Amino acid sequence: MRVALIAHDKKKPEMIGLAIKYKNALSQHEIYATGTTGKLVANATGLTITCKKSGPLGGDQEIGSMIANNALDLVIFLRDPLSAQPHEPDISALLRLCDVTATPLATNVASAEIMLTALDRNEIPLMNPNIKKKAI
Ligand code: PGA
Repeated sequence: MRVALIAHDKKKPEMIGLAIKYKNALSQHEIYATGTTGKLVANATGLTITCKKSGPLGGDQEIGSMIANNALDLVIFLRDPLSAQPHEPDISALLRLCDVTATPLATNVASAEIMLTALDRNEIPLMNPNIKKKAI
């Protein structure tokens, strides 16, 4: 499966913790990330990650484009709900596209744990096959 990892600055430690905990599961899949998140997770875990631009510099739009093209199967986006983000329009667009394409999206560490546990157990169901064209 193709998994995207994105974390706002204050959430990056939580993302690194998740990536370390679920490293074995993640290593079986294609991992994509926004620039800074991807570099930090790769350094902490040794996972191979395809890094896009940094989020505020267009990385969220790059990930959003993948979602629009059904090129991602899971998105973990640890958002910071207590800080203003300069690229809020890009974030909103990414989240909206997850709903348009019925791409599973976790926006906090608790839902991400559930998603990664399911990934670890190979229990991710095919979401809305009428919308998602690619088998996962
Ligand atoms: P970053 O981007 O991983 O490059 O920090 C995340 C974001 O803020 O969208």
